[in-house]
Parts: sequence; structure tokens; C-alpha cells
Amino acid sequence: MKKFVLVLNCGSSSIKFSIIDPIYENIYLSGQASSLNLKNSIIVWNIENKKYLFNKKKFMSHNYSMNYICKKILLKYNFELFKNVVAVGHRVVNGGIDFKKSVLINTLVIEKIKKFFYLAPIHNPINLLGIIKIRKIFKKLRKKNVAVFDTSFHSGLPKKSYLYAIPKKFYNKYHIRKYGAHGISYCYILKKISDIFNKNISKINTIICHLGNGSSVSVIKNGMCVDTSMGFTPLSGLIMGTRSGDIDPSIIFYMHEKLNISIKEIKNILNNKSGILSLNTKSSDFRYSEKRYYVSKKNKIAVEIFCYNLAKYISSYFFLVKNKIDALVFTGGIGSNSSLAREITIKYLNNFDFFIDINKNKKKYLDFNFVNKNGTISILAIHTNEEIVIAKDTFNLIS
Ligand code: AMP
Repeated sequence: MKKFVLVLNCGSSSIKFSIIDPIYENIYLSGQASSLNLKNSIIVWNIENKKYLFNKKKFMSHNYSMNYICKKILLKYNFELFKNVVAVGHRVVNGGIDFKKSVLINTLVIEKIKKFFYLAPIHNPINLLGIIKIRKIFKKLRKKNVAVFDTSFHSGLPKKSYLYAIPKKFYNKYHIRKYGAHGISYCYILKKISDIFNKNISKINTIICHLGNGSSVSVIKNGMCVDTSMGFTPLSGLIMGTRSGDIDPSIIFYMHEKLNISIKEIKNILNNKSGILSLNTKSSDFRYSEKRYYVSKKNKIAVEIFCYNLAKYISSYFFLVKNKIDALVFTGGIGSNSSLAREITIKYLNNFDFFIDINKNKKKYLDFNFVNKNGTISILAIHTNEEIVIAKDTFNLIS
């Protein structure tokens, strides 16, 4: 009997689901519920190259969509396929200090994930909703649910990188430190670099830019992450779709004390109303600003600030690995697709050994593409695949 893994990635406005053969990496079913809680919510899925769609014509909640995905898609249309599912892998954004690797989910794990809601307030509660639904609906798989954490990849960060310069008790007692995120994607990319360069992961030095709705950049030395741009929560670091990234913390005091804005609203502003959206004033979708880059000042500056900030991180990380990396990698929706974002970022790095081949950079590709192969440093654009990592980790754990 074939053994498949159901992978679930519950996000703030979407639920991605897939059935994967973890050994041969074949994807038999993949789908996504998107624009959840908005008027245009939709569920699309793909089984053996056939596309399906469900549109309720009014908004769908996470709860409604999860029920539809489980009962109407996984069980109804695909019973034969679903019979071979032996485990379920869930993406969980933040595992705090307790989870250094993936774990089988039990009630204790659920309690701990709840405890860490404040570390990923947009993501962890939704991740848990998916876990609870699956355990309830698929009773036979109840003990075969695995949590794969985005933070595990960063659990080996050195102290000089994860400790903040604030009174020690905040770390000792309250575990306030840098946790990072996007670790599942970094894992996939690292393995990919190892395959491309035919080099053992433990020998790889690289800087990986995961640029999507949420964006972060990490520097890897001898296969281990030594620094990353996200911090205590996914709010810090690079500018993102709607998140501010790094700002002076005093701005928060000023907004609260002088402008009388509540802490709850400031949280909402920095998480949901900032970033690219605040700079172009229209859309958090990078494509919106990319399309208007040459014709609109607002959009041009949005792209420039995004890339300039990224270039600052890359250049400082480059020095951390003594200017020796196997590759600079761009991934995530923006990183792997936007030739403009790559071009402008590299423009800011021109004083270093980073050069871009304009033609190679614009080339469409399926899996990965060398943006520059002949200069001192290889620059690559790679499509990430977090689902494969989750499926493999889950399968390994339950086997
Ligand atoms: P992700 O969170 O990785 O799914 O990435 C979402 C982001 O990728 C959004 O800001 C999209 O606008 C951006 N994106 C997706 N496709 C493209 C593309 N072809 N060119 C530029 N940006 C893209």
C-alpha cells in the first residue's frame, strides 16, 4: 500500500492543503482556500491535473472552509486517495523555546502551542484551529498528527544573535528572544542548494531571502542558521506586505502617549496597515507596485524601500560569513518571481561582488534559475516548497 501524508498549512487568510507521497515527492492533490473572511473567498483544488473550484458567493470563514475541505473534498471526491493517508503534517509558525524539532501532537503539545499564541498572534491560533479540526474529523488519524515548526530551523542560533539587549529577566523568565520564522522554507532551499552544488549541507554557506507576504532573510554558515531578520515575532526585520518590519520602538510610545492610539490599534497598524500597503497606499500585493514602478512615484519608492532594506541586511550578513557564500538565493512569491525586486536589490549591492545578469534574471523557469553564475557569487531564484518538507518530516516521525 502506498503511504501518503496530508499537509495542512493554515494561514491568516488562506488554507493550503495537499496529499503528498513523502518518498517520491509526488503531489496527488493540492488546493487552497483563499481570501478567507472576505467577500471573494474561494476554494480551488487540483487532482491529477484536473482543476476544481468552490465559491460560496459570500465570505467563508476558516471554520467553514476547513469543514468543506475535510468533508466535501478529502473524504467525498477522493476517498480512494485519502485511504492511503497515514499521517497529517501541520505547519506551525512558532514553537517558542520548547520545540527544537517536529513533534507528534498530543494534548500537551496543543497546550504549548496555545501558550505561544503571543509569539505569532496572526498565525499560531489559525494553525491550531486546523490541528483541532483534523483531529476531530479524522478520528483514525488522531494520533498521527505532526506539528512542523517554522522556528525549529533557528533553534541553533548563537546567543549573540538571539539575545536582545534588554534586562536579563525578560529572557530568563519570559523567554523574550529572537525566534525567527520561515524555517520550513529555508530547510527546503538549503537541501536544494546542496543538490544543485552537489555539496553536503554541513559545508554550505549561503544567504537566503524568503520574500513573500511575510519576508525574512537568513544567513547560513556551515549548514546552520547564524542570524535571521525576524525576531521575537514575525513583525520585525524586512518590510512586508502589510507589516512594518524594523521600526524605532519609540514610535509606539509616541503613537500611544501623544496621539492617543490604543495599543490594540497600534498592533493592528503595524501588522495589517503598514509595509508595502502603507507605502503605495493601495495594495499589499507586490505585483501592484511592480507593475507601476516606472510610472508612479509612490510605487517606485515602495519597491525601492523594500529592496534597499533587504540589501542592507544582505550586506551585513555577507560580512558575518567572511564574504564567502556559495549562493545568494531569492525565494517566496516575490523572491522567485520578481525580476525587478532582484535587480534593484542587487543594484544596492553593487559595491560588493554581487552582479546581475539582466537576461538570466528575466528568464522564466520552472524550478530554479541562475541569475548570475559566472560572477564571484552565484545568485539563484528558487521556488520554495514547504509542503514537501512538512510531508517528509511528518512521515519520518510517524515511521
Ligand atoms: P507568498 O507569501 O510567498 O505566497 O508571496 C506572496 C507575494 O508574492 C505577494 O506580494 C505577491 O504579489 C507576490 N508575487 C506573486 N507572484 C509574483 C510575480 N509574478 N511577480 C511579483 N510578485 C509576485
